[in-house]
Amino acid sequence: MIGLQAEVNIGLLGHVDHGKTSLTQAITGKWTDTHSEELKRGISIRLGYADASIYYCKKCKSYSCSEKCACGSKTTLKRRVSFLDAPGHETLMATVLSASSIMDGAFLLIAANESCPQPQTEEHLMVLNILGIKNIVVIQTKIDLVSKEEALIHYKQIKEFLKGTIAENAPIVPVVANKSINISSVIEAMENFIPTPERDKDAPPLLYVSRSFDVNKPGTSIQKLKGGVFGGSLSSGTLKVGDEIEIRPGLEFNGKINPIVCKVSSLHCDGGPLKEAHPGGLIAVGTTIDPYFTKGDALMGTVIGAPKKLPDTTHILSISYNLIKRDFNNPYIKKGEVLVISVQTTTTIGTISESSKKELTIKLKRPVCVDTGSTVAISRRVSQRWRLSAWGTTK
Ligand code: ZN
Repeated sequence: MIGLQAEVNIGLLGHVDHGKTSLTQAITGKWTDTHSEELKRGISIRLGYADASIYYCKKCKSYSCSEKCACGSKTTLKRRVSFLDAPGHETLMATVLSASSIMDGAFLLIAANESCPQPQTEEHLMVLNILGIKNIVVIQTKIDLVSKEEALIHYKQIKEFLKGTIAENAPIVPVVANKSINISSVIEAMENFIPTPERDKDAPPLLYVSRSFDVNKPGTSIQKLKGGVFGGSLSSGTLKVGDEIEIRPGLEFNGKINPIVCKVSSLHCDGGPLKEAHPGGLIAVGTTIDPYFTKGDALMGTVIGAPKKLPDTTHILSISYNLIKRDFNNPYIKKGEVLVISVQTTTTIGTISESSKKELTIKLKRPVCVDTGSTVAISRRVSQRWRLSAWGTTK
């Protein structure tokens, strides 16, 4: 069987316990945080995502994820979508930022039984603002836990919260995800507000790695070992089984970072194996390298491309930057400060070696492979937590 690859990535954002996993299950029929299934499926679940096929019934003019509509008519396939779930219990903004760098659009979930905004809701909307992710559907969850009047007051709070932000004109869809109520409206809003972006399939391939792993069971004989696997999303170009690829920054040897050159040995999406992968949707790329190197996300944050086509690897970033207005003291960044730096799918510690009110030079602990014009998010330590504080653009 050849899998059908998703064409768009939609992130699920929102405060912890605001119903991300229930919504994913209501739409796709799958849990993104099930670990028993991970053992069986090996690859796709580890990416923290689930794919769904979106169907349309011409008779009812309604959307669903089923080949057959509730009215009995046969539906037509519109497209396939990957949902990325930033782990619900994860308080590290780094995970959200790295997932956001491969999102084409987002669902922002806001639970009706808590006042809006909760701290993480606010930070997640900041991430969408910074990364310029403007295709957003706001989902008001858990409306069965409040009265109609309370739900309407909460709706007004959401409207007020979104005012002047990138999500100002986003639709707000009320749902009860664990009872699958109003899910078709969520899908309809997604179809109307989160289009598949135009992508260049003929450009050289560029894939941001969001996971890396070893799919072999302990004790597998050398002859049966499968090479290291990378999870991520192609932002341009295509990848075929047998293609020669380069992975940057690569591996450190004797104090020097060397790019890895290897071959694509397999391609998978949630729908099954692929001969060729195109932009959009999450994929797993099997390679010919020793799986020891990809174990436990060791090569997360790397970039895959055609040999000699990727940007240079660097430990130094020069950026122009802007502070974010926060509810904590957030002064200009000073020389010598140690911060958490997120760029593409990489998160690392950085020390400021030069600073002015508009520009920074940052020495990174982990090298990165980035182009000019990439967005950089900066988090600062505020009372034992890393809080999003500034953002900038690489020069
Ligand atoms: Zn129908």
